[in-house]
Amino acid sequence: MIRKKKPSLRKMFGGKVRRFLMAHQREGRAYIRRMLRRRRGHCARCGVCCMLVHRCPFLRIERGLATCLIHALRPANCRIFPVDPQDLEERDLLAPERPCGYSFLTAADRQPALALAEKA
Ligand code: SF4
Ligand code: SF4
Repeated sequence: MIRKKKPSLRKMFGGKVRRFLMAHQREGRAYIRRMLRRRRGHCARCGVCCMLVHRCPFLRIERGLATCLIHALRPANCRIFPVDPQDLEERDLLAPERPCGYSFLTAADRQPALALAEKA
């Protein structure tokens, strides 16, 4: 269930600005590519990332599943979410009880894969 009162509006707004700048700057795009390699899972269609700061007018939720009415045309900010664990933390301010379908490998998670790659 989504919380009625939005906590830390400033933090969520800051996240939006951060993602916008990342998506539109060369260094930011390089960072996004690196983080995508660590991202696991899939979108669970909770719609929470479409309600950060304000509820997007293009969001429809039916039977608990979110749909973007302009999915093919959605802006870069939406396409890249979540970029990193910070995005997930900000998103969890709104709905911690229903986690995002994405997560990120930690350095510890990546250790076995790195060890295998070094042996090969
Ligand atoms: S918060 Fe995560 S699971 Fe929910 S709609 Fe956004 S990307 Fe998908
Ligand atoms: S444009 Fe679509 S994906 Fe982006 S916030 Fe709105 S409903 Fe969500």
